[in-house]
Amino acid sequence: MCGIIGYIGHRQAREVILNGLKRLEYRGYDSAGIAVIQDGLGLYKKRGKVHDLELLIQDLELNATSGIGHTRWATHGVPSDVNAHPHTDSQSSFALIHNGIIENYDVLREDLEKKGHTFHSETDTEVLAHLIEEIQKMGSLGFYEAVQQALLQVDGTYGIAVVHEEYPDQIIVARMGSPLLIGIGEDEFFVASDASPIVGYTQKVVYLEDEEIAVITRDGYEVSTLKNVPHTKEVHELALSLEQIEKGGFPHFMLKEIFEQGDTISDCMRGRVILNENRIQLGGLDGYVDKLLKARRIIIAACGTSWHAGLVGEYLFEYLAHIPVEVEYASEFRYREQLIDENDVMIVISQSGETADTLAALREAKKRGALVIGICNVVGSTIARETHAGVYTHAGPEIGVASTKAFTAQVTVLAMMALLLGKENRTLSEESMKELLSELDSIPEKVNEILKDTSEIERIASLFTYAPNFLYLGRSYNFPVALEGALKLKEISYIHAEGYPAAEMKHGPIALIDEHMPVVVIAATDHTNEKIVSNIEEVNARKGRVISITSNGQSSVNRLAEFSVTIPETHDCLTPLLTSIPLQLLSYYIAVNRKCDVDQPRNLAKSVTVE
Ligand code: GLU
Repeated sequence: MCGIIGYIGHRQAREVILNGLKRLEYRGYDSAGIAVIQDGLGLYKKRGKVHDLELLIQDLELNATSGIGHTRWATHGVPSDVNAHPHTDSQSSFALIHNGIIENYDVLREDLEKKGHTFHSETDTEVLAHLIEEIQKMGSLGFYEAVQQALLQVDGTYGIAVVHEEYPDQIIVARMGSPLLIGIGEDEFFVASDASPIVGYTQKVVYLEDEEIAVITRDGYEVSTLKNVPHTKEVHELALSLEQIEKGGFPHFMLKEIFEQGDTISDCMRGRVILNENRIQLGGLDGYVDKLLKARRIIIAACGTSWHAGLVGEYLFEYLAHIPVEVEYASEFRYREQLIDENDVMIVISQSGETADTLAALREAKKRGALVIGICNVVGSTIARETHAGVYTHAGPEIGVASTKAFTAQVTVLAMMALLLGKENRTLSEESMKELLSELDSIPEKVNEILKDTSEIERIASLFTYAPNFLYLGRSYNFPVALEGALKLKEISYIHAEGYPAAEMKHGPIALIDEHMPVVVIAATDHTNEKIVSNIEEVNARKGRVISITSNGQSSVNRLAEFSVTIPETHDCLTPLLTSIPLQLLSYYIAVNRKCDVDQPRNLAKSVTVE
């Protein structure tokens, strides 16, 4: 979470940093701040959006050509001007920005207070700034050495950038658990928590690894470990364009990303679904397929929307390849008794490839000898680098905080993996493979068909804009879609919503149903359709307002539901790729009607890099 940007070069740092912060705002947006070195340390911070910070500094004469900026997602202390980053030492001679959590901050703070330090904020970050100051003072160390020593004393996670007024030509950066990269331009360098703020300036980057620290000057950068072992870093080329991270005429990133899904699913399948040879080709799994087939079980670990994709994956792997699968919340898995070993395979799913809990689960599994496979969207991300093998989703940058196109791309990858394994395992006949591949291939076209006319969904959204609760029901492959639909509504519309397996309704949630309760029923799979028709009857008998998502031709559902959104038909196991689209749109239009901040919903942030 939180966005970090730093610049040193020949341009106006203010401009680079403010532009960067705007691009990073999806990572955290409760407050923002900037520090530049110009006749001493200039420090400006403001609660609210980056725009508020921009207003604060717009009339100032700032000509500095180096500096750092931060957009915060509060973990310790409320969003406020004081708690906003950067934080400084007691003399305000240096400024530090931080992404992550200093877990032992309270012990450190108590100790520093005893030594006479006064803290102005409630943050864990300010403690780190004072710790550096104290270490430098007591050990008569250079500033760089003091930063190094301080970092060796903190527990937790950090991506930091520091500027010091006495060293105007350097930025110190370090990483432990929170992503950080250095952008390499022509006589200029950047530092950022992800590539989005620097892509307009350079495509060349170096990714910092955990426990690495770097000094960036106008002439270059030097990376070493916290214990002073120099590291030579590989320079990577970004495959990201400015166009991809702009709204392209849409009012919100989320809507743009919903509408991109025909293309992103296509991109995800390109070169992988080989129709004329009736097979799937996933280069990232070369050499690992056998291990997957022989696995005692596959454990899918993920968080949030990716966890929902994982649940769809469970149905797909079991149905198509007959491999037992367990789906775990990464945050729960890592603290359970670890019964995983070299006979198991773990698949981790994360859009950003930086999700802290998922990364921790991956490391636990790897430590115990399991093969770990990643499904990530961000190329070069930490999870992508640390897994043994993996498949990128190739959905392009997802900026909207509520995930949409990443979800459908993750499900597409899982479907391709399940088909590959099903064919290898001979649980899928050549004939079924052919049918499923051609169905998968036609999904982008069907997604575009749904997106061609959204008027019915908009109408339903306007009728239920002020509903206080929603229930989402689905069976089989569409039970995870019910969870995902409910999550989307909660995330961006702030309406309480629950997703349930349709048959579970009778075991509790049915008590909530009355004439005010909208119940979204996902009824698009043939093999469960009869049962779901009975569930709709049960809701109707209690005067609930049924909104059904059905495939063409499912007339009994259409007849019973008060509102129906019809989607094209496909094979049951691929329906989540279609049924999720109207649910994304429903939450989007309701959020817009409620005047919610769709791309930056309250309390949330993209890429959850804290535990
Ligand atoms: N833990 C720090 C704070 O609460 C940093 C949070 C962030 O990553 O934005 O200020």
